[in-house]
Amino acid sequence: MNLILLGAPGAGKGTQAEVISSNLNIPQISTGNILREAVKNGTEYGLKAKAAMDAGDLVSDDVVIGILKDRIARDDCKNGFILDGFPRTVPQAEALDNMGVQIDKVLEIHVEDETIKSRLSGRRVCEDCGATYHIEFNPTKTEGKCDKCGGNAVQRKDDAPETVIERLKTYHEKTAPLKDYYEKQGKLETVVGQDTVEATSKLVLKAVGA
Ligand code: ADP
Ligand code: ADP
Ligand code: ZN
Repeated sequence: MNLILLGAPGAGKGTQAEVISSNLNIPQISTGNILREAVKNGTEYGLKAKAAMDAGDLVSDDVVIGILKDRIARDDCKNGFILDGFPRTVPQAEALDNMGVQIDKVLEIHVEDETIKSRLSGRRVCEDCGATYHIEFNPTKTEGKCDKCGGNAVQRKDDAPETVIERLKTYHEKTAPLKDYYEKQGKLETVVGQDTVEATSKLVLKAVGA
């Protein structure tokens, strides 16, 4: 099954992608994680992406489409994949269609902007494997250490409140129109994000038939 997770920053896409991935045994593809890795390693496109990411803006379509194309061509995607954070613009969605990639379902996780702000201020992300935590709602077993790999669970620079405001603006302007795009293709299903990860997961797994 080829899935897209849609939703505002902090809606729970990454968290739910991890849950679906372990249930359906298909990889989670997070363009945000791939970009952060590139920034950390100082690669050519990492350098190009950094300024946009720090400002809460989107990285250019060309760069992200290239990354995505390479990633889904890999062997582990042949039984399906979960796209977490891609597409984020109409041109990215069109590029995916033009690649001939068949998308089975687009799951929107709907969370109000006010809730988003508290989610992101407490978010912690593993520097090594990208796993997502929250200091209050989904804490690591040992403070500051990833449960999965022992890496450092840290705050993302772009989770600072000023940048979150920019990211929410970017979401409403550039990404939210994708709801219409996929509604027209008959692929959109909306799940209302719940107050706990578990309650949301229940709805999400039901929606993907797991
Ligand atoms: P996204 O990938 O959409 O940006 P994340 O999955 O990183 O969102 O979730 C944002 C933050 O909110 C993380 O700190 C995560 O642990 C927390 N979180 C995710 N889902 C829920 C939920 N249903 N209730 C409370 N906190 C949640
Ligand atoms: P979140 O889900 O919390 O918004 P991500 O980890 O998905 O964050 O993305 C972090 C940043 O990486 C975005 O704010 C954006 O700058 C960049 N990015 C990730 N995916 C894309 C994409 N598909 N197109 C353009 N920029 C992207
Ligand atoms: Zn980790």
